[in-house]
Amino acid sequence: MLGLMQSHKLMLSSVIRHAARQHGHSEVVSFMSDGSVHRATYVELERRCRRLARVMQTLKVGFGDRVGTLAWNDYRHFELYYGVSGTGAILNTVNVRLAPEDVAYIINHAQSKVLFVDPSLVPLLRGIANEVAATVRDVVVMSDKPVELGLPAGMRVHCYEDLIAAADESYVWPEFDEESGSVLTYTSGTTGRPKGVLYSHRASLLQSYAVNSADVFGLRAVDRILPCASMYHATAWTLPYSVPMVGASLILPGRFLDGPSLYRMIESERVTFAFGVPTIWTGFLDHLKSAGGKLSTLKRVLSGGSAITRQLVETFREYGVRVEHAWGMTECGPVTAYNAPVAATKDLQGDALLEVMLRQGRPFFGSDIKIVDENGVELPRDGKAFGALLARGAYMTRQYYRQGEEGAADPDNWFATGDVATIDENGFVQLVDRTKDLIKSGGEWISSIALEDIASSHPAVAEAAVIAAAHSKWVERPLLLVVLRDQADADSAALLEHFKGKVANWWIPDQVVFVPQLPHTAVGKLNKRELRTQYGEHYNAGTE
Ligand code: ADP
Repeated sequence: MLGLMQSHKLMLSSVIRHAARQHGHSEVVSFMSDGSVHRATYVELERRCRRLARVMQTLKVGFGDRVGTLAWNDYRHFELYYGVSGTGAILNTVNVRLAPEDVAYIINHAQSKVLFVDPSLVPLLRGIANEVAATVRDVVVMSDKPVELGLPAGMRVHCYEDLIAAADESYVWPEFDEESGSVLTYTSGTTGRPKGVLYSHRASLLQSYAVNSADVFGLRAVDRILPCASMYHATAWTLPYSVPMVGASLILPGRFLDGPSLYRMIESERVTFAFGVPTIWTGFLDHLKSAGGKLSTLKRVLSGGSAITRQLVETFREYGVRVEHAWGMTECGPVTAYNAPVAATKDLQGDALLEVMLRQGRPFFGSDIKIVDENGVELPRDGKAFGALLARGAYMTRQYYRQGEEGAADPDNWFATGDVATIDENGFVQLVDRTKDLIKSGGEWISSIALEDIASSHPAVAEAAVIAAAHSKWVERPLLLVVLRDQADADSAALLEHFKGKVANWWIPDQVVFVPQLPHTAVGKLNKRELRTQYGEHYNAGTE
């Protein structure tokens, strides 16, 4: 017998409708790529989203068709999240920091006939125009005024505001199958060609509910949220949905993610909670320290995407800000685990507390995880045994987009994350490494994450990376690459001495290479693949 409750499909459009009706005065502030600042309420934006839905009809975008974006975090990109997905079409957000050939690959692979582009990214589009000319039919420049682009004939060019002005507001948000695709986002290709992950209305809506619980983001209507995670990658960790869902205000930083710009935004817009990868926070704190600034409203910072360091936690603490640690990946919707205390950890202090904060967190409702050995046998949750980390749940991908029939997950829906981890008795995951970044020295594993954490706690170190370098005797040995802080002075011996007593002696890197900067991926993580190519033969090359 079915229950006798109303049946409403889980549609993402219901979020913006709710925000407009219930939190109409909360605002979305955008730092636009031309340097201007734009402010709008959810009431105003929801109206424009309905107009945009009409624009989809004008541009002949049908149910399930893909619409691409080359855009930053601003209100027009936010409108596209609803104005495209709300009609049943699929928004393909393209990571604009990828190499141009990957950008072209994604647009073609997604088969986006319509492409929305920020004026500052027109040169990127121009550079790949010939490669995507057979796919893209209409280009919409996200600007107030028409712009001359010089694109191949056959690509029609439109101006965003002209299309919006010509559309009416009579669109009624439809209900359709909640498992329909909503956003198509590609992995950042740290392990080969980007792969398409197709989110559904149901998965993203459920995850947005889940992250809004108190032990995850726990957002509130009075919050002012700054997403430094980009809307072009993995739905900026659900923030375009989870923020309006509770009626909090959104501060969208555009392309300005450098320390001074973020500091100005956080102070002038009274940001209470900011989200980003550790690299962003390192740049921000460096600026804060050198400028001698204060943080008047910021209380929480979420750091995810790469491991956090104790240095990051401690420095933010000096400014009265709590760092919260999250783990996830594109294929997981993308947030899976969050580091919030449980009864057994809530009273910890000092180093014991730091140890727990550095863990990646525990899965919240809707996702499950386990670690397995090389035969797929589940390992104990004792904080010591480590193995391949698998995840499953309503927000996880089953299959990649247009990659054949083979599942991304196994027949029981377990998805292999490519991470190696421990899980402790309280359910907290600690990442030992990405499988390919682990160092195998004389048959024993060494965690590069643990060594990077120690290296970056040295006062002279601005950023550190540890990679496996081939070694004639031990097969692999850890090699430490270091960027020193401005004016700091430390030699190899001092840095290596810093590891003593913190890890087993045989974990300590054999050598240090000083570099002016370290390479990062398109989402701001250390690019270990490039480092391995460059320094993987360091010990064998006779440079010791
Ligand atoms: P890709 O780089 O393949 O696109 P994502 O951007 O989705 O992948 O990142 C997923 C990976 O990032 C995870 O598998 C994990 O290795 C790493 N990661 C995410 N969060 C954390 C974290 N808090 N600590 C350490 N590593 C993390």
